[in-house]
Amino acid sequence: MSSHLFKIIFAIFSFLILPESISAQDLKYARETVNILGSDSLKGRGYAHNGDKLAADFIRREFKKFCLKNFNSSYYQEFETSVNTFPDPQSVVINGKELEAGKDYLLDPGSPSLKGSFDVISVTADEILDNAKFVNKLRVSSGQLIAVLPFNKSNFSKEQNEQLNGVINFLKYHPQNPSKGTIILTNDKLTWAGSVRQHPKPTIIIHSDSLDGSLKSLKLDIKSSFIEKYTTQNVIGFVEGKNTDSTIVFISHYDHLGMLGPQAIFNGANDNASGTAMLLSLAKHYSENKPNYNTVFIAFGAEELGLIGSKYLTENPLFPLSNIKFLINFDLAGTGDEGIQIVNGSVYREQFDELVQINEELDLLPNVKIRGAACNSDHCMFDQKNVPGFYIYTLGGIQAYHDVYDRPETLPLTEFEDYHKLIIEFIDRLK
Ligand SMILES: [Zn+2]
Repeated sequence: MSSHLFKIIFAIFSFLILPESISAQDLKYARETVNILGSDSLKGRGYAHNGDKLAADFIRREFKKFCLKNFNSSYYQEFETSVNTFPDPQSVVINGKELEAGKDYLLDPGSPSLKGSFDVISVTADEILDNAKFVNKLRVSSGQLIAVLPFNKSNFSKEQNEQLNGVINFLKYHPQNPSKGTIILTNDKLTWAGSVRQHPKPTIIIHSDSLDGSLKSLKLDIKSSFIEKYTTQNVIGFVEGKNTDSTIVFISHYDHLGMLGPQAIFNGANDNASGTAMLLSLAKHYSENKPNYNTVFIAFGAEELGLIGSKYLTENPLFPLSNIKFLINFDLAGTGDEGIQIVNGSVYREQFDELVQINEELDLLPNVKIRGAACNSDHCMFDQKNVPGFYIYTLGGIQAYHDVYDRPETLPLTEFEDYHKLIIEFIDRLK
């Protein structure tokens, strides 16, 4: 075969197969990234056992591999936060049965340590709403534990629910609660969070399915470690564009909830190894295909502690925020069976309509849904500085969230490739 003919055949062949193979590469890279960031060895990307630093170091090495530029000769922007952590073994024993952290129970993230054997004084929602009865129960619980029994919110009026919430918050957080700590028994899914504070008394949230028999007494050895000044970091890199006057910004938080003792790891595959995989896939793409505008990639730390990394960056920007043409926040990118939701879609309607149009033209995701502003992830700090942008999250698929079941092996990445294509096309068409 002449080399000329070979070149023509090769060109036709690659034209036919290349787009498919490129996207398969994107999915393979995303899968590998989610597996690494969501692995047990990264300790749930929290503050026990340096989980945050292991995750940041992985992202930094990927940025370096893609030859991303950095600001002030470092990919890191360090900042400090306080944080309550649970690095040590925990023990909660009821009727001789050791409960499993993460599956049977959670500790309120602001819980201090507590050790001992205690009687449990139970109160029902009806008793809480009856002042005399509640005060009596509270008095008896002094020096022991008080347990709020499960109740169905829909059986109570709005005012009664407010009163119940007020009392539960008093029990959980008020130093004048005379008991040693509070137990919340629940029929709901256990959902954890992070805390920058340590409260005066612990709260143990126990799933009612994990109890055999009655809850009369309980043996506890819970240990927490409050760190006043923990240094953590945002990871930032950029690719220079054809036009350097304006900036496109992609963000995702890489932190998660860490661990509750040595066994319960909150891997955070969907939240937010998936969004970080999208961020890294885009960094890879634009390092190989020069973007129209300067393009900055920010992996934020300490989002789960209250948007602390993004607050720090927007107060200490490394480039002028006023240059940002558009920003996209990826947080929860791992499903898509029911499409995607666009926070700020109704705020930036023109860009939203463009996104819908591209999606229809290229026949990508099953749905692109509009939503207004919402301060529920890192984009919020940019909203407050009037930076235009969307927060996008995937809809449908698995429901694991802020629990020990949000793991890489069950994350489908259903629409990842189409989502990735949609973003690239949207950004490339931005005028
Ligand atoms: Zn998140």
